[in-house]
Amino acid sequence: MTEIPDSHPRKSSLLSRQKMVEAAKRGLLADSAMIAHGRGEAYDYLLGERTTESASLAIREAAARLLDADSPVISMNGNSTVLAGEEAIKIAAIVGCPVEVNIYYRTDERMSGLVRELESLKESLLATSPPENKEAISGVDILGMVSDGRIRGLEGPRSLCSAQGIEKADVVLVPLEDGDRCEALIALGKEVIAIDLNPLSRTSRTATVTIVDEVSRALRGIVDELSGEPEPGPWDNEQVLRDALESMANASIRI
Ligand code: ATP
Ligand code: MG
Repeated sequence: MTEIPDSHPRKSSLLSRQKMVEAAKRGLLADSAMIAHGRGEAYDYLLGERTTESASLAIREAAARLLDADSPVISMNGNSTVLAGEEAIKIAAIVGCPVEVNIYYRTDERMSGLVRELESLKESLLATSPPENKEAISGVDILGMVSDGRIRGLEGPRSLCSAQGIEKADVVLVPLEDGDRCEALIALGKEVIAIDLNPLSRTSRTATVTIVDEVSRALRGIVDELSGEPEPGPWDNEQVLRDALESMANASIRI
C-alpha cells in the first residue's frame, strides 16, 4: 500500500479507496462495486465527510432498535465487509446476533470469499480483545453459505438467504442495501435499518431508519451507542432524509 501522510485532509477516504482496490483484486467485489463506492464518495464529500447531528440521532435509534429486537441480523455485502467488517462483528457480539453475507450478484466464489473474510476479521478481533469480550465474539455466527431461507417477493438468486438470519429476523441492519430488497424486507413486516449516503435512493426512502452516513463511521457510531442505554423513540425517517439533503445543499457555505 502507498503511504498516505497523517496530515492529508482526506486520508480516510483515500485509505477506503485502497481497501476497495485491494479487495477487488482479491475477487471479493462485483464489478459494479467501484461505481457504487464512487457515488457514495460524492455524497460524502457534500456532507463534509463527517457524521451529521441528524445521522447521529439515526445511529442512536438504530442501536436502540437492535437491542430491542427479538431476532436481529446484520446483512453484509462486499463493500460493507471490506470497509467495515470488523465493526459489524463488534455490533453482533454486543447485540448477540448473527452476521449474514447477502449479496446482489451472487457467486459461490464471492460468497465463500466474504464469509472467509468475516471469519478472519472475527479471529483477529478475538486475538486482540480483552478476556471478558472473547466469549461474545466467538459466539458470533457468520451465515450465508447455507441458503435455506427465502426473501419472499423477490425472484431468482436475489431471494436466497439464511433461514436463521434474514428469513427469521424482525430487525435487519443492512449497510448499502439494494432498493428492491429493502422494499421486499419491509413488505414482509421487518424493520430495516439502512446505511446509505444517498438520501434519495429507494433504499433510503423505504427503510424504517436510514443512517445517511459513510458505512464505517455509521457502524463505529453504533458500537459506541451500544455501550450506553439507547431507547427507541418515536421516529420520523423523512426528517433525517430532509436534514441530509439540507446539509448537502449547504455544502458550498462551508468553503
Ligand atoms: P436503490 O437500489 O436503493 O434504489 P441505487 O440503485 O441508486 O439505489 P445502489 O447501486 O443499489 O444504488 O447502491 C449503492 C448505494 O450505496 C448508493 O446510494 C451509494 O450512495 C451508497 N454507498 C456507496 N458507498 C457507501 C459507503 N461507503 N457508505 C454508505 N453508503 C455508500
Ligand atoms: Mg439499486
